[in-house]
Amino acid sequence: MSNLQKALEYAHQNHDRFVNELIDVLKIPSISTDAEYDNDVLRAAQWMANHLKGLGMENVEVMPTDGGHPVVYGDYLKKPGAPTVLVYGHYDVQPADPLELWETGPFEPQVRGDFLFGRGSSDMKGQALAAFDAIESLIKGGGELPVNVKFLLEGEEEIGSKHLEAFLRQHADKFKGDVSLNPDAGMMGVDMPTITYGLRGLAYFELNITGPKADLHSGLYGGAVHNPAQVLTELIAKMHDANGHITLPGFYDSVRPISEQERADFARLPNDDAHYLEETGVPALWGEEGFISAERTGARPTLEVNGLLSGWTGPGSKTVLPAKAMAKISCRLVPDQTDAEVEKQMIRFLEANAPKTVKWQLIRITGSPFAIADLNNPGVKAMNDAMVSAWGVRPFYRREGGSIGAVAMLQQICGVESVLVGMGLPSDNVHSPNEHMHLPTWQKGIDAFIHFFNNLR
Ligand SMILES: [Zn+2]
Repeated sequence: MSNLQKALEYAHQNHDRFVNELIDVLKIPSISTDAEYDNDVLRAAQWMANHLKGLGMENVEVMPTDGGHPVVYGDYLKKPGAPTVLVYGHYDVQPADPLELWETGPFEPQVRGDFLFGRGSSDMKGQALAAFDAIESLIKGGGELPVNVKFLLEGEEEIGSKHLEAFLRQHADKFKGDVSLNPDAGMMGVDMPTITYGLRGLAYFELNITGPKADLHSGLYGGAVHNPAQVLTELIAKMHDANGHITLPGFYDSVRPISEQERADFARLPNDDAHYLEETGVPALWGEEGFISAERTGARPTLEVNGLLSGWTGPGSKTVLPAKAMAKISCRLVPDQTDAEVEKQMIRFLEANAPKTVKWQLIRITGSPFAIADLNNPGVKAMNDAMVSAWGVRPFYRREGGSIGAVAMLQQICGVESVLVGMGLPSDNVHSPNEHMHLPTWQKGIDAFIHFFNNLR
């Protein structure tokens, strides 16, 4: 029997113990957003550190961050010349409210049929432990871990990884590796393994238009003074053309085209346009011409109005000509756009289009970088083949519209691309009452991770 087969067999023989270990850590209410649970968050960090030590990991430490929850580190660097995989995880969870909607206590995990219920079972103590269990199976069942590993387990993912950036800048070298395994994503469905290889970035602005020095009587001044609400909405309307393209000057200059292979993969995703119609309840879809919804939301940049404020919005009528109007406007960014570049484009657009009748002010509120893994990255290839081995089908490839802090930070600060996967299913109720995990899928995930580490050797 090969070492790989021995490792897979070990994982199956130890399934019940793996589940019990997961139940053990799920009992800790490591809610990162609520200071009342700070001790529990620390306990969860220590549990993780002890667990890593139990696996034989070395240099395990609970490292403080500057004012936030700690990061757990550990490594096992015994294969000089072999790739180093940085295993990412987070040990914090979302609050459990509303408690009355849980059928069993959120921190009293319970197996019911094929499912394990409990806060954090899917997002993501379960997924993190799947990576640990794969490593244990390779070492104790197969006799060796064919690659080097490092661990980065944070306690603030559910609150936006607030202190992780400063922490990583301080310890950038320690967390360098060839590829990061990030099991904090999920699958499109049962037996639909999925690799998420791209996340969009963000550029978020507030645009203020001011006209008269105070609100005016529209009967006395209407017709002589340009209305800031009208100016603002006209500017917003001009930011897209009739084909749904964004008109900021140079906006698409650094947008990476979607390759033929990617287009074929997008077309294969189960969330087709009919799915978007049904999910959203809109009468018809809208977007950039020439692209399907999965491409529009994953691989193309967008510009959205997130909020509008001007004039009288209370009950009844007030014949006002407002002194100012404000819009919150944000762009989702794709490779290789940057939020700094988009800010300049927005300013150029306003300089060219804002009338002389008003004053405008653009405030940059926040921004975050895109993240993308090269599909030719050996880590992506190793995961593709691992999923084929575990599930017998080629995984789905998707790019997601949102952002995950750690993925972009690891790419920008440590130069490590992430392979973003997971065994979470869309029906797992993550962040909701009765969060659960499908245990047969979890077991296949452990198998896939065993293959993944083995493929990278
Ligand atoms: Zn998560």
